[in-house]
Amino acid sequence: MQLLKERILKDGTVKPGSILKVDSFLNHQMDISLINEIGKEFKNRFSGLPITKILTIEASGIGIACIAAQYFQVPVVFAKKAQSMNLDGEMYTTKVESFTHKKVYNVILSKKFLGSKDHVLLIDDFLANGCALLGLIDIVKKSGASLEGAGIVIEKGFQEGGKIIRNMGIRLESLAIIDSMTDYSLTFRD
Ligand code: 5GP
Repeated sequence: MQLLKERILKDGTVKPGSILKVDSFLNHQMDISLINEIGKEFKNRFSGLPITKILTIEASGIGIACIAAQYFQVPVVFAKKAQSMNLDGEMYTTKVESFTHKKVYNVILSKKFLGSKDHVLLIDDFLANGCALLGLIDIVKKSGASLEGAGIVIEKGFQEGGKIIRNMGIRLESLAIIDSMTDYSLTFRD
């Protein structure tokens, strides 16, 4: 997605540990007209699929998923990072290792909001090692819902996540795939 790539080049900054900071338009301050175009692009790429729900994970996926959902006309449900181990039986639970915070979270989703009749599109801001997406995939499996695909805004193609998810046969659409990045240069996959 050309508009997104241009914006990453203009406003993204590279931090130690292969972290791309895009907090002026995606992760902290949010450029809604850009995110609106992102939502439209997800709708184009996943058109014709019987999606009934968009699933994301808190926090930064939520805003993006909500704007995309307006094009799909379906609800958004987000997995919560739970503090407590005391989870009751009405929750799907899984564990996710955070790439940015180097911490393992329990992630929960109420069984009320995802079930075997659902067709799910996963949406998230970044794909790095794939832990967040694998956690969401595990929740979809536990719910018995059908997984239609995953939409990612920025994939860091030099990390393993994309390969792992595609090798599972999951339809993965990333709007910008970064092949390499340093303080001085950033290259995209075509
Ligand atoms: P993964 O679970 O695929 O390793 O990492 C995905 C999650 O980590 C995303 O939900 C995102 O919040 C965060 N993340 C991973 N890499 C980056 C990065 O380079 N920049 C930012 N801002 N977040 C990242």
